Amino acid sequence: GLAAIHAEHLSFSFHENNMQFAVENSSFDIDEGKITAIIGESGSGKSTLLRLIYGLLEPTGGIVRYKGWQVPTRKDKLIPGHGAMKLVSQGFDDLNTYANVWDNVASQLPNTDIKRKQDKTAEILQRLRIDHLAKKRVADISGGEKQRVAICRALINEPEVLLMDEPFNQVDASFRDTLQQDIKDIVKETGLTVILVSHDPTEVLALADNLIVMKSGKILDQNNPHVLYSNPSHPYTAQLLAKSNILQVEQAQNLGITSEKPIAIHQE
Ligand code: ADP
Repeated sequence: GLAAIHAEHLSFSFHENNMQFAVENSSFDIDEGKITAIIGESGSGKSTLLRLIYGLLEPTGGIVRYKGWQVPTRKDKLIPGHGAMKLVSQGFDDLNTYANVWDNVASQLPNTDIKRKQDKTAEILQRLRIDHLAKKRVADISGGEKQRVAICRALINEPEVLLMDEPFNQVDASFRDTLQQDIKDIVKETGLTVILVSHDPTEVLALADNLIVMKSGKILDQNNPHVLYSNPSHPYTAQLLAKSNILQVEQAQNLGITSEKPIAIHQE
């Protein structure tokens, strides 16, 4: 597919002497209109990579391009293309918990006339299936519902790229599948590019079209989940995915399914 994001020799250090890199010499492409998950253990550099792609951090070395254009840093608010990406940060930091769901979402269209603001807000709440929560305070809804509000806030401005940091962390397992299905459907309908970060491969194996495996600031492997699962090119990938493999076998055994092979992951 077409690359939405193209990164070359991307590096970032939080230290002035540049001795320790949170992201080191990483080159990669991210497909347009697909879901890409950056996976790896805690501290491997996933969030830093996401913030470099979004332009929240300025690279120590290398470059990130969005459709050929260098990604502007967030300080440069007026650069065209700034609105092309939206970030849903971890832990609902951006939500106003004392305001209701409707106001949290509608407030993202400050310079829009009332009629259009109402229509757009109603439309996106309905698309994420939280229109019945419009009058509820964010403080009074569940983690999964808050995540849907955060996604509405990001999508109401129709970005081309949606970035999400650990989007399923505070979502109950029972709500995770329906949220993932909704994200998949929206990607299919709109051609949205999704990039998300997860420390837990099990939660993204069936969701992502592509996986990027990180360890100690470096990208070790990148491919579709099926290839990485059945035929990883790096031993670390096998080790990382083995955890989810074991989980799936255990789940299968709990259900009385006996099989030599792990349950196949979703494939088109
Ligand atoms: P992950 O998202 O995979 O958990 P991070 O990108 O948050 O990893 O962190 C990568 C590395 O950078 C870690 O060693 C972490 O301790 C370090 N780091 C992250 N944020 C900061 C910061 N604000 N200042 C200094 N070091 C940081």
